[in-house]
Amino acid sequence: MRFFDMHCDTATECAFNFGGRSLSEGAFHLSLKRGAYIDSWAQVFAVFIPDELRGQSAIDYYERARDYIYSQQKVCEGKFYLCKSTEDIDKYAGKGRCAAILSVEGGAALAGDISRVEALHNDGVRLITLTWNGPNELGDGNMTENAGGLTAFGKDVVAKMNELGMAVDVSHLSDKGFYDVAEITKAPITASHSCSRRLCKHSRNLTDEMFCVIRDTKGAVGINFCTKFLHEDEYAADMTDILRHTEYYLSLGGDNTVCIGSDFDGTDMPKGVTGVESMGELYELFLRHNYSEDTVRKIFWDNAYSFWGRVTDFSRAINKSTNLKG
Ligand SMILES: [Zn+2]
Repeated sequence: MRFFDMHCDTATECAFNFGGRSLSEGAFHLSLKRGAYIDSWAQVFAVFIPDELRGQSAIDYYERARDYIYSQQKVCEGKFYLCKSTEDIDKYAGKGRCAAILSVEGGAALAGDISRVEALHNDGVRLITLTWNGPNELGDGNMTENAGGLTAFGKDVVAKMNELGMAVDVSHLSDKGFYDVAEITKAPITASHSCSRRLCKHSRNLTDEMFCVIRDTKGAVGINFCTKFLHEDEYAADMTDILRHTEYYLSLGGDNTVCIGSDFDGTDMPKGVTGVESMGELYELFLRHNYSEDTVRKIFWDNAYSFWGRVTDFSRAINKSTNLKG
């Protein structure tokens, strides 16, 4: 099987809470060893920035996690490759090798400085989750009281990310912020780890309309395995709830949109999922529920993979037209 996961917190956990333990050993849900059975594996590794950090302390925190991830290319030599493009993913995703994509969860890592978008891009960051649950310089998260949308700075960041070919991630953003992004983005957007609010009423989940807006940008929505987002009775959540949310998104015309955003090592897993080693079983579960091989392949790989291609293509296209003008 091929597995493309739009979000996990494993690297941040290893860097800060597991004493720098290698990604080979990993944290609670994901390790390179436990994923080595996957034929082709692409994994987004997020640097999660705690909401209370601002300015230089947010930058320092980001850089520490980034450097940890860089170091893993040596520590886990031959098994872990940082990818900056779909060409890199083609080259490195294979059995026993993880094609990793670097992301930042929480725009506080920019410290309110627009030039830092490019600095992060140069570091290899290819996705920014604009906010976490609270407010930051870019806008308000979904749990901010009387949440507003994006700030003027947040809007500038989205435009810059479009230009550089970085994926704009609306997971965690407030509803107002979501519509601000939708209005200004020119490139496809993603909710890298968000379930359906129709099936589980939670401000972290997407309304039907939001899902369709992302679908129409030719974006991607990753199903989050978090028990609280899968089921209103979080203790009842099991593997079949992942199918339930997927099926619902498919019913909204999401067959080229829905993918996986596991949130490994960032949340509690539903019954039946212990970590990345359960993904083969999940794949089989889809097949047993009469999903076509083609659809399951799209959910587990193609939709996320093509999304990254479209984000990059968009950036190449606008840069070309700017160069012509210049
Ligand atoms: Zn998250």
